Amino acid sequence: QASGAGSTSENFKVVVRIRPALPRELRGTGLRPYQCTTAVEPGERNIILSENLQAVLSQQGTMIVDSGLYNTYRFTFDCVYDTHCQQERIYRQSAQQVVLSILQGYNAAIIAYGQTGTGKTHTMEGAMEGPDRGIIPRTVEDIFTYIVNDPEPSSKYLVRSSYLQIYNEVVSDLLKPERSSLAIREDKRRGVFVEGLSEWVVRSPAEVYQLMQRGQALRATGATKLNEVSSRSHAVCVIIVEKCTTPSAADDSGAGGQGGAAWGRSGNGEGPVGPVIQSIKVGKLNLVDLAGSERVHVTGAVGRRLEESKKINASLSALGNVIAALTDRRERTHIPYRDSKLTRLLEDSLGGNCRTTMIATIAPSLDAFQESLSTLKFANRAKNI
Ligand code: ADP
Ligand code: MG
Repeated sequence: QASGAGSTSENFKVVVRIRPALPRELRGTGLRPYQCTTAVEPGERNIILSENLQAVLSQQGTMIVDSGLYNTYRFTFDCVYDTHCQQERIYRQSAQQVVLSILQGYNAAIIAYGQTGTGKTHTMEGAMEGPDRGIIPRTVEDIFTYIVNDPEPSSKYLVRSSYLQIYNEVVSDLLKPERSSLAIREDKRRGVFVEGLSEWVVRSPAEVYQLMQRGQALRATGATKLNEVSSRSHAVCVIIVEKCTTPSAADDSGAGGQGGAAWGRSGNGEGPVGPVIQSIKVGKLNLVDLAGSERVHVTGAVGRRLEESKKINASLSALGNVIAALTDRRERTHIPYRDSKLTRLLEDSLGGNCRTTMIATIAPSLDAFQESLSTLKFANRAKNI
């Protein structure tokens, strides 16, 4: 699955989410009051970013911008979610299709990109309960709802989950702390996989939340301080759904019926899966909370910090290059997956038939202007076709 197939742009969506101003931003800094730099045009496709936002809506509902000599930019995306937008809508509009595609046996990815503090984790995880539930809990709920409601009696499902981190180009298992420096491999049967990464069979959303909480706790108590690491590492939650359908003509009580360990709707049975399996569809979803995209100034940083910064910059630009190559419509474009662990890991979940959504997150305030601009440029390049 290689070059920029025409379907890529259909399957690859880039959206932007602007988080609301936080109390500290609203208070302003020093003598400068809070200043908002972002506006979303009606239709929610265009975002205006300006150092001196002077925008008014015309009677036709278009936005007239007059920011004088100040830097002002306009970008177009699949959707731009303004500050008030709720988690539910973002999930429904920009994640659900991606999630449902894995139940049809496709691979997929949802990737949050942006400066630290702009809402990547809020968007991907959010709360585990209530209306602030982010994409991961809603994904898991949707998957199990789908499974429970599958009208086909012979369908059996196996859902597995893993949780990993890439820090300094080292892959580690967030659910098995002793497993670090894992290798990324690929074979015909499994596609791209992380060797030695633990996979946990999950039977309910609650079981996935437990895993996530364990992983987060582990991240917090790891060798390096948390806040540092969580903004400087990529976290990837992997969900693999296998659907096994026995021939409908087969006797329902036949081998492989209700008994397979973890297969089936409630999956309380024990024992091996029987031999009458007609077809297995496997779909894999990567839910990615990227390291903060802020350019750490390489000058000034020394030692470990310098190496770390170089590696984050390198892996994020590798991701940008891969996405740009995928959306390039020219035939036989080389896709540089091998340039980083992150792109290597996502190799079979980007491009081709895979559904992907990238959510670029930005803050609305003036002090974030340069970072917002570079995030929008990154996202725009991903969208450029
Ligand atoms: P990141 O993961 O990109 O570093 P976080 O998700 O941790 O950023 O968000 C930073 C802060 O902003 C957190 O306190 C979070 O609760 C808050 N926040 C982010 N997005 C929103 C939002 N859409 N609505 C309300 N608060 C948000
Ligand atoms: Mg975060």
